[in-house]
Amino acid sequence: MFSNAEIGIDLGTANILIYSKTKGVVLNEPSVVAIDINTKQVVAVGLEAKEMVGKTPKNIVPIRPLKDGVIADYDVTAQMLKELLKKVSKKLGMSMRKPTVVVCTPSGSTTVERRAIHNAVTSYGAKHVHLIEEPVAAAIGADLPVDEPIANVVVDIGGGTSEVGIISFGGIVSCNSVRTGGDKMDEEIIQHIRKTYNILIGERTAENIKMEVGYAHPNHKETMMDIRGRDMVTGLPKTIEITSTEIYHAIKESLEQILEAIRATLEECPPELSGDIVDNGIVLTGGGSLLNGMQEWLSEEISVPVHMAPNPLESVAIGTGRALKMIGKLQKAAK
Ligand code: ADP
Ligand code: MG
Repeated sequence: MFSNAEIGIDLGTANILIYSKTKGVVLNEPSVVAIDINTKQVVAVGLEAKEMVGKTPKNIVPIRPLKDGVIADYDVTAQMLKELLKKVSKKLGMSMRKPTVVVCTPSGSTTVERRAIHNAVTSYGAKHVHLIEEPVAAAIGADLPVDEPIANVVVDIGGGTSEVGIISFGGIVSCNSVRTGGDKMDEEIIQHIRKTYNILIGERTAENIKMEVGYAHPNHKETMMDIRGRDMVTGLPKTIEITSTEIYHAIKESLEQILEAIRATLEECPPELSGDIVDNGIVLTGGGSLLNGMQEWLSEEISVPVHMAPNPLESVAIGTGRALKMIGKLQKAAK
């Protein structure tokens, strides 16, 4: 039987995930495109393109079209989506033409930005496109009872943005979005190493440092790591040893900004819902929430329980997929 595909898309600043209604998460790749600037051709997308970052000849440039949480480069985003959907349809052996799509939009996005997301998906040939607010998708994917009249608090820490949302009775009661997340921490690490040691390191090295010896909590058991970069004085490769304490100080500012967004959102919470938060706490999603010590640090700072979502990196994608089922039901009921 032929039926159009139904898919959910998490258009993340760092990773794009595609969820098929029948097969679950079918694609999870970095939101990176490599472009040949001479011919304007897309050379690679996703994982293949990310592996090229910082290693290619000058005419091949990696672009992250969604870097700051909105579509900075519309054409490139549309091309990236097209290539990734092609990949999915090859992998699954099913047509991805004219799919029904649920795609999430960052809660801070403007009407123009939402339209850009809608258009990028439509330009691929989607039959129906439904937009869902990212915090709602994250909360659904984290198994929170979003339809109940209780406060469901979700904090999604991504690459380019972090979002905090309180959802009750299926809708957003209060939310805040900050343009900071894992990427900013990587940049802060690069700056720290450059200023302290006169050594240049690349983005991927910085990300590895963050994952290995990055901590959200000031009180942690100090660990060390050997890293390699280019000495800015001699121009030669050099290995140095860094500590988790110095990395903590380097990324502290981003962490504080995320904490501020959480505090501000909790302060805006209607008092009738505050009790729920004391009892149920908040749930963390997104790759940035995997930073060592994040859960403990946040629960100490805001004095409410902090839980990790079952699948932090996939919560939004799973949520878009579940939303698809709700839309299917609504469409059937309307017939
Ligand atoms: P987005 O939704 O913006 O695409 P993701 O939720 O996919 O972002 O998270 C990507 C971010 O999470 C990146 O900055 C990445 O470095 C960070 N990240 C992933 N795993 C870890 C980890 N174990 N520790 C710290 N940060 C992590
Ligand atoms: Mg995300």
